[in-house]
Amino acid sequence: MSVVFRMEAPYRGAYELHRLSFGSGSPTVAIVGGLHGYELTGQHAVNMLATALRVSRPKGTVHLLPLVNTFGADESRKRWPFDDLDINHAFPGSPSGTAVERIAHALLQATEADICIDVHSGAPHVRELPHVRVPLGGEEVELGRSMGLPVVWRRPGDRLDATGLVGAWRQAGRKALLVEGGRGSTLDTNHSDTIARGLAALLGHLRILPSTNGPGIVADVTHGEVETHRAPFGGFFVPEVKLGQRVQPGQHLGHIQAPIGGERLGDLVAGRPGVIMTLRAYPMVHAQELLVRIAGTLA
Ligand SMILES: [Zn+2]
Repeated sequence: MSVVFRMEAPYRGAYELHRLSFGSGSPTVAIVGGLHGYELTGQHAVNMLATALRVSRPKGTVHLLPLVNTFGADESRKRWPFDDLDINHAFPGSPSGTAVERIAHALLQATEADICIDVHSGAPHVRELPHVRVPLGGEEVELGRSMGLPVVWRRPGDRLDATGLVGAWRQAGRKALLVEGGRGSTLDTNHSDTIARGLAALLGHLRILPSTNGPGIVADVTHGEVETHRAPFGGFFVPEVKLGQRVQPGQHLGHIQAPIGGERLGDLVAGRPGVIMTLRAYPMVHAQELLVRIAGTLA
């Protein structure tokens, strides 16, 4: 393990960006976790892959940076604690900028690779079925599918914008994927295992490691094939499905009841067949907050 960047911190030990490197030569792959401090399921997945790489002989180079936002992880926070800025909004960063800009700049330098993967979790109030987000076309779609994660989500925009790490990698001419799974501030070892198997399958696809199967794709969708349910009004959301469950049109997904007294206020019903890829974990909801996403499948 090497320290690729070091920065004095005002009142505790210095901030250090750690990188573990395995193998040599090309192709080169860089995998980043914990850009958001509290997204521990991804951090654990990258560490699981490190354990596997220690006992293998990679034909190529793999750089692992399991935890970028160490100080955020200490405090179960998404952002950098001192100024509450999001490192993922600081790219391409600057060696003479604010703390998050310096970290962003160092991270871009430390992840010079042909293929880069940024591993995230959902926010603390939602659970995400492990999935890979790729552009609508191009080589990254094939790379994403090679992971065999439960959902491949082909989409424009959002986290792929230029200020994010994935966008910055793409602007630098690198192939970049965004992986997301689990829930913030929570370790879900099953999801970590799924993500780690997906990462190993990608390394197998690239012939860096022996070929292995990923967990298995259950839905391969564009944004228009994802059905999003938001709360029509505030209340207490009670789910009636589980993450990863297959649902049919008309099936009850959950209901909103009065937080005090439990009076049933409304039902959520699936409009299309698919698999539950996002499910609200924190029941208190305001109007328009995310409750359920269904990744569409054929009936
Ligand atoms: Zn994140």
